[in-house]
Amino acid sequence: MKTIHRLIRTLQQKMPVKSLCLRIFLLLLVMGIVPGFIVGAGIVQNYEDRAVENRITAVQGQLKIVANHLISNDYLTKYRTGESLSQTSSDVINAELEMLANLYEGRVMIIDSNFKVVLDTYKISEGKIMISEEVVKCFRGENISNYDKEHGYIEMTTPIMDTTANTTGNGVVSGVMLTSISNSSIVTMMEVLNRRVLIIETLLAVVVVTLAIVTSIMMTRPFNRITEAIKDVKDGYRDESISVPDYVETIHIVDAFNQLLKRMRTLDESRQEFVANVSHELKTPMTSIKVLADSLLAQKDAPAELYREFMEDIASEIDRENRIITDLLALVKQDKKSKDMTITSVDINELVELILKRLRPIARKKDVEVVFESMRAVTAEVDEVKLTLILTNLVENAIKYNKDHGWVKVELDADHQFFTCKVSDSGIGIPEDSIEHITERFYRVDKSHSREIGGTGLGLAITKGAVLQHKGTMTVESVEGEGSTFTVKIPLNYIAS
Ligand code: ADP
Repeated sequence: MKTIHRLIRTLQQKMPVKSLCLRIFLLLLVMGIVPGFIVGAGIVQNYEDRAVENRITAVQGQLKIVANHLISNDYLTKYRTGESLSQTSSDVINAELEMLANLYEGRVMIIDSNFKVVLDTYKISEGKIMISEEVVKCFRGENISNYDKEHGYIEMTTPIMDTTANTTGNGVVSGVMLTSISNSSIVTMMEVLNRRVLIIETLLAVVVVTLAIVTSIMMTRPFNRITEAIKDVKDGYRDESISVPDYVETIHIVDAFNQLLKRMRTLDESRQEFVANVSHELKTPMTSIKVLADSLLAQKDAPAELYREFMEDIASEIDRENRIITDLLALVKQDKKSKDMTITSVDINELVELILKRLRPIARKKDVEVVFESMRAVTAEVDEVKLTLILTNLVENAIKYNKDHGWVKVELDADHQFFTCKVSDSGIGIPEDSIEHITERFYRVDKSHSREIGGTGLGLAITKGAVLQHKGTMTVESVEGEGSTFTVKIPLNYIAS
């Protein structure tokens, strides 16, 4: 039993049942062969029925002639009354019946109205009583014919009608001829026919199998071409997008693949760009440190003040390097653990107040006024640390990129689904073509200005990432020279993915 199970499992594994090629092949095979075989069997059966029918009609015709002779010679009446029949008539009838029996390899019996066998070409049953269903039915006027294929004969009854016996002229069945003939000639004919049909069916099967194999291979070839093309792309033989325009389906698959390929290339390019940017950003403070240290070393008796001044610059470069590394780590952490959210119910008004309290001293240095306008009390399910990071970054930028004596306004509002936090400033604004790039890693509108004020170009990338983690959105509106507005919209109830 176990061996059988194992065998079935092996067969299932080996046979590519899920292969489209195999399925098309089987479908064509069934569609091509089954109708052919059905038609073949139908033709054979029909032919046999017609052959039997023709034979019965032919024999019945001849039997009717004999029946007429019997009536015209009063055969049955004379037999019943014991009158002797003229020798010639008897001989003619006997010869006719013998000839019929020989011609059709059969047997003819004449049965009179007393169910007595008057004549039997086999000479076995003469004088005996024959009451069979067929005979009885024939006396009632029904013509019966049976084809017994199993035993190889056709049996039929023919009424011997005496039209002179009654006045109506319809005739009376005065006797029955019970005939059975061999079907050997039909069998021989059917054998020949069957052989021919078999040859045609075999030829048809060969043609259908060949066509099914060729068609199924041809029809599935485009899919193989897709696989090959994808393999080539994977192995790096080709860089361009693939094209297999054979079917609408292959066009769709290939389109989807090309889009995926394009996205992967973009991702790859952005990864390479990111690595290049990181290296560059980390190298800049290092170069400064190296230059500062080298110039100190070059001077033999450098005064202590110069040392101090250079060391301060070196310390500030180290701080900068540190900030970049911290921001990078924050980004990497965000990418890696994007699912790690500590969601709690947070009073957003209170949180904004706290953030602004922390940032006001920085604003005061630039004489920037920071105002908070809350439309309503808002409580939301958020990650408090991440939301603090979002708002801190936005308000910090609004202060950093502001003009002296400017203002920063934080507005908080909510509807039944989202809360909105708008951070506007009266700062330098962002050029229109830079707006779409400011959330990219290391992107800065004015590199040197940003560096001067301690920017790394990573703040908004981190902010956007955190907003997306909350399933929120961040939009930017800005007019260069007038100010900017960053709007963050976050669901009140956290939607876990
Ligand atoms: P950075 O560390 O340089 O501030 P961010 O990612 O926070 O990096 O910001 C990217 C760039 O977007 C900044 O360098 C600056 O040019 C621009 N930017 C951000 N916020 C503002 C703002 N409120 N006003 C004007 N420019 C801004």
